[in-house]
Amino acid sequence: IVWTKADGWQTPEVLPYGPIPMDPASSVLHYGQEIFEGMKAYRHADGALVAFRPEENARRLNESARRLSLPEIPVELFVAAVRELVEIDADWVPSGADQSLYLRPFMIADESFLGVRAAERARFLVIASPAGPYFTGGVKPVSIWLSETHSRAGRGGTGAAKCGGNYAASLLPQSEAAAHGCQQVLFTDSATDDTIDELGGMNLFLVRADGTLVTPRLNGNILNGITRKSLIQLAKDRGLAVEERDVTVREWRAGVEEGTITEAFACGTAAVITPIRELKTADFTIDFGDAAPGPITLSLREELTGIQFGTREDPHGWIDVLVEA
Ligand code: PMP
Repeated sequence: IVWTKADGWQTPEVLPYGPIPMDPASSVLHYGQEIFEGMKAYRHADGALVAFRPEENARRLNESARRLSLPEIPVELFVAAVRELVEIDADWVPSGADQSLYLRPFMIADESFLGVRAAERARFLVIASPAGPYFTGGVKPVSIWLSETHSRAGRGGTGAAKCGGNYAASLLPQSEAAAHGCQQVLFTDSATDDTIDELGGMNLFLVRADGTLVTPRLNGNILNGITRKSLIQLAKDRGLAVEERDVTVREWRAGVEEGTITEAFACGTAAVITPIRELKTADFTIDFGDAAPGPITLSLREELTGIQFGTREDPHGWIDVLVEA
């Protein structure tokens, strides 16, 4: 869908997948005005194709748009575009456990000029790709690496926006994590502070021995994860306390040593919940050993995936039918 400052959003078009024309002076190529979302469509047992909280993705895209000086898109237009794409070839959405259609809505500034200012022309696109299970052979606890040399975002920066530049900056620390045998990098508030922000592509939770969940508050640096928000609700439904506040690596380490912190997990659309086995740093390792994955991690995972795949009741109306059975 094309947007111009003069005429607003134009009529959506569905095109065969392929390269898109782009002027070498297109503003996105020079100043990085690009934002995106990640979401999934699932096939329920009755054949219906559903999405999980797509309006939350639309709202978050609009928050990112405001930060990156891109146009906001009406929530209904966002959801209609996703529906139209999925409807075109409903067979794209595989059936079966852990199968889904990954959807990537994104927006780029697309005006041809070289001055530094907000573009007056933009495009919103949605592409899709079938996705198999994140974990093959069962849920496996992961190791994560604390980046003490790079932060993901600075105060007042773009950390809360889902923009491509944030991910470009996370690639180097992510490869440092991989070099230390870890699957994800953990970022703190700044490279010299030990207040936890989030992982390269997921939010973080610690679980206390009494069942309380502790997760970094939305401090302006971290992404407002839809899985995070959903898990906070599901935990509260069960009567578990949830603390959204500053959390430090020091607190995590002391809690594990004292036995007051018993589980840790990461969450996001791709893996839903990833149990964390250990946090490695240059100086020490915080290790749950064979205690991971813990029982609260596993049962929250089961509940949320059950809602998404339609095998559990959806008490909050999070499932949005895209294509009827
Ligand atoms: N933080 C970052 C940096 C992410 O890329 C993601 C994935 N979108 C998340 C958190 C989790 O967000 P969500 O639950 O909405 O997928």
